Amino acid sequence: MAVMKFGGTSVGTADAMRQVIAIIVEKRKQDAPLVVLSACSGITNKLVKIADAAGEGHLEEAKQLVGEVRAFHLDLIGALIGSEKIRKEVTEKIDVYLTRLERLTEGVEIVGELSERSKDRFCSFGELLSTTVFATALNEQGVPCEWIDVRTVMITDDRYGFARPIEAICQAKTEEIIRPKLESGVVVVTQGYIGATEAGKTTTLGRGGSDLSAALFGAWLHTDSIDIWTDVDGVMTCDPRMVPEARSIRVMTFSEAAELAYLGAKVLHPDTIAPAVKQNIPVYVLNTWHPESKGTLITNDPALLAGKSHGGLVKSIAVKKGQAILNIRSNRMFGRHGFMSELFEVFERFAVSVEMISTSEVSVSLTVDDAVVSDSFIKALGALGEVEIEHKVATVSVVGDNLRMSRGVAGRIFGSLRNVNLRMISQGASEINVGVVVGESDVAAAVSALHCEFFAESQCAGIFEKPAGS
Ligand code: ASP
Ligand code: MG
Repeated sequence: MAVMKFGGTSVGTADAMRQVIAIIVEKRKQDAPLVVLSACSGITNKLVKIADAAGEGHLEEAKQLVGEVRAFHLDLIGALIGSEKIRKEVTEKIDVYLTRLERLTEGVEIVGELSERSKDRFCSFGELLSTTVFATALNEQGVPCEWIDVRTVMITDDRYGFARPIEAICQAKTEEIIRPKLESGVVVVTQGYIGATEAGKTTTLGRGGSDLSAALFGAWLHTDSIDIWTDVDGVMTCDPRMVPEARSIRVMTFSEAAELAYLGAKVLHPDTIAPAVKQNIPVYVLNTWHPESKGTLITNDPALLAGKSHGGLVKSIAVKKGQAILNIRSNRMFGRHGFMSELFEVFERFAVSVEMISTSEVSVSLTVDDAVVSDSFIKALGALGEVEIEHKVATVSVVGDNLRMSRGVAGRIFGSLRNVNLRMISQGASEINVGVVVGESDVAAAVSALHCEFFAESQCAGIFEKPAGS
């Protein structure tokens, strides 16, 4: 049994949906999968805009956007569904949702206020629409499948916008509603990202929540794997837009994947992976457009790790832009206790999250999200010591489980970065990452140099050297 999750771009056009159908047909030769879908790409963002516009009283703008959502799905149906009769039926089904969306828009505009609860209601339509169209197309292609409203299974608490499942109930509902269908060979198509409270109020798990939905179902059904289908070749050695030689990683551990996600790589969010880790269910990150390629396997299972080349010192290079460095220097720190707690109290008070930190006896350097640095925050820090800010920096982190046990890695990292101005250096306590902070304009050079050092040594040697005499 497997869970297959397809992201927004995999269901964003008729061509993409056809491709997904072909992938499911292939998978079904072994077993009927549970198919979890995101909204079509761009639709959730539009729904958020509709919600905000309605809440701010911009009814015309909101209605215009609802019109765009309608037109998008009608076009999709037109391009995807062959039979006129079936087209008509599915159009009626999505009309029910779109009419509700319109009414909700008007209701919120009249009330003049957008609650978190209403916002989740707005956002839920993306997945309801995408799955309705997709299940119809799958059926038309002759694949026995059933559409399920996930709100009958994914029962959550009422933290709107960030709801979490009540696992005992979800597990029981999954057994009762989903498992028997899969066991009888019927493909089940359902929504990622959304759920409902016990009282039946629609909730969402937070943006990007479809991956979490898929991992949860995998855990509840004890599936053999969780397949996350995206539009890239699995997890890459670094962002291919930055380094064209970037390669996809065959296999990595859960901790490497989590670390990478924390450090800014567009990998699965660590929270997403947690339910799979608990049950030791392998997670595959695959490319809808290259179904034949292997993608990336994320697992802790020694047997699975052993067979594939888990080796390699560095697994991947992650970049987080839009950061700022704060240097706080104070002689009061010297030999005195309590300074750090005073310092962190300021971060607590201003709800600023510290990303990287490195400290000496009389100074502390930290990186934070550049967008959250406010004058009042800096002023509060100023009461503790001299504060210096460097805006527009980025963290570049090298991640790999094998870093922990290897000698000479630091030498290679810093050797390769000899021509880059490093603003700060840090090694995570997990010892599986080494991070440096560089100016944003130096990111490309730093990433290329590191990639060259660890992934393409022979081809790239010397390319990044400064010419003699410069
Ligand atoms: N459609 C939702 C979003 O865009 C959930 C997801 O795609 O995972 O955030
Ligand atoms: Mg998504």
